[in-house]
Amino acid sequence: MNVLKGSCLCSEVTFSVEERFKAFYLCHCAQCQKLTGSGFASNILTTPDNINWLTGAEHITNYEHPSRAFSKAFCKLCGSGVPFINKSKTTLFIPAGSLTEKPSIVPTAKIFKAESPEWLKQGLNAKSYDGFPD
Ligand SMILES: [Zn+2]
Ligand SMILES: [Zn+2]
Repeated sequence: MNVLKGSCLCSEVTFSVEERFKAFYLCHCAQCQKLTGSGFASNILTTPDNINWLTGAEHITNYEHPSRAFSKAFCKLCGSGVPFINKSKTTLFIPAGSLTEKPSIVPTAKIFKAESPEWLKQGLNAKSYDGFPD
């Protein structure tokens, strides 16, 4: 089984996961927009047992939404999203950007697309640069 490493931005929290993934969702719901501060959340889904915390687990804190089955785990030092188990304990969500190594799974679905912000659609047509604009 291939193993992928991941970390938060400040690198205090590190983990590994086995590459046995069920789905890869790009979630455009309003809550994911707030939570990420961006157009959508990118989460890879796997079984709850598929996580090996290597360092810094004590820096992780959790947010549970009061009404929806919706949560997030993040590093208290840098705010980066890290893997978390959903409220019903059925699935481990791995924020795709937290992986340091490239997963072989590709996004399987864009979900809650009806809530996608207009600027995201417009942004796909914006001019591209390899770094900052000249
Ligand atoms: Zn961190
Ligand atoms: Zn969402």
